[in-house]
Amino acid sequence: MITPGTDLRYLLGMDGESHERLTCLVLPAAGHLAPPALVVPRLEAPGLAGLPLDELGVEIITWTDDEDPYLLVSDLAGGPSRMGVADAMPAAHVFGLRDIFPEVAQTLAGPVLRELRMRKCPTEVAELRAAGAAIDRVHARMGEFLRVGRTEAEVGADIAAAIVEEGHTGAAFVIVGSGPNGASPHHDVSGRTIERGDVVVIDIGGPLPSGYHSDCTRTYAVGAEPAAAVCAAYAVLQGAQEASVAAVRPGVTAASVDAAAREPITAAGLGERFVHRTGHGIGLDVHEQPYIVRGNSLVLEPGMAFSVEPGVYLDGGWGARIEDIVVVTADGCERLNTRPRDLVVL
Ligand code: ZN
Ligand code: ZN
Ligand code: ZN
Repeated sequence: MITPGTDLRYLLGMDGESHERLTCLVLPAAGHLAPPALVVPRLEAPGLAGLPLDELGVEIITWTDDEDPYLLVSDLAGGPSRMGVADAMPAAHVFGLRDIFPEVAQTLAGPVLRELRMRKCPTEVAELRAAGAAIDRVHARMGEFLRVGRTEAEVGADIAAAIVEEGHTGAAFVIVGSGPNGASPHHDVSGRTIERGDVVVIDIGGPLPSGYHSDCTRTYAVGAEPAAAVCAAYAVLQGAQEASVAAVRPGVTAASVDAAAREPITAAGLGERFVHRTGHGIGLDVHEQPYIVRGNSLVLEPGMAFSVEPGVYLDGGWGARIEDIVVVTADGCERLNTRPRDLVVL
């Protein structure tokens, strides 16, 4: 049972979000005779024009506001013993389905879908490559935006506009973490004014029209060379990011790529300052499988795409992160972000 969201976009090319009216792809397991069917509110049926539903053999079943869509789903699904629901299905619909199938065990559909979504086909890799090039063009313009005397919010607004100018449909996130705010990995923007000598973490990305995302972090120094201690820690981080990317190839585990980033940072006494996993898969979602994290024994395969983004965060002081998206190739990986990874002084 797949409601609107990135899973449905992946399967049918259908955009949009779930809301209170049920739209749901009822996809029987292999071996069942019923064809897949898309239950959709009648008023939204015109929006399906242009989707390859005929080619895919998906029937459209419309319902009107005076009907119970869960009963329609029940008719289509017959008597299943198990039902997978999209990971991001709204609870209202999960409960609606449970009420109509009280005896049927609900599980998450994610484990089935991630086997598909995690392995990018060449068309998807091409989209991610284009997204990487687009966000690299925004980083290349950072000197236009990031200057002493401007607030993080002003810088962030300019970056968001540039993200669109360079080919994205919007900015999914814009992190401008200046000075002490850089020590918060998921800082947004604030009214803080950029000062001479600040170290600034810029983590930005968004979707292309295809829905595939960019995500790239660079750390800059503004107006002056940073202190020697900052440069020394940054050099450790840069080495760790290089080592982690160099560790990516088919046959190694996600955990080993995390370890390759973590070991040099820990050896330098900064292990406690690297407070997050090394990376996340990327595609139609900014964060998706595979996660590059300690304990993940998933074995990497060609076509898997994810971030390599170690960081160090000195509470109350400053932070730094370097993030590239990589795609696993036959014998290593391709980096989709190519801007300089040094601590560039703007
Ligand atoms: Zn993040
Ligand atoms: Zn990022
Ligand atoms: Zn990321």
